[in-house]
Amino acid sequence: MGLPSKKRTSRSKKERAAHFALKKTTLAKCPECGATVLPHVACKQCGSYRGRKVANPTKRIERRTRRLKKIK
Ligand SMILES: [Zn+2]
Repeated sequence: MGLPSKKRTSRSKKERAAHFALKKTTLAKCPECGATVLPHVACKQCGSYRGRKVANPTKRIERRTRRLKKIK
């Protein structure tokens, strides 16, 4: 294993860490129902993506409740 040839100063450590801050997530609005959604992701409220219906949110909820019943 290689070892660092020189001691890293506290300043150089901090300078590197200056870029570690997390970026804010960008949110978009669903054109169908107006709910806030993640960009490039189908809406969880109405299941639409780019003006088309691609998922059925009621089915998703049914599946989830069924799964939870199995666990209990
Ligand atoms: Zn929607």
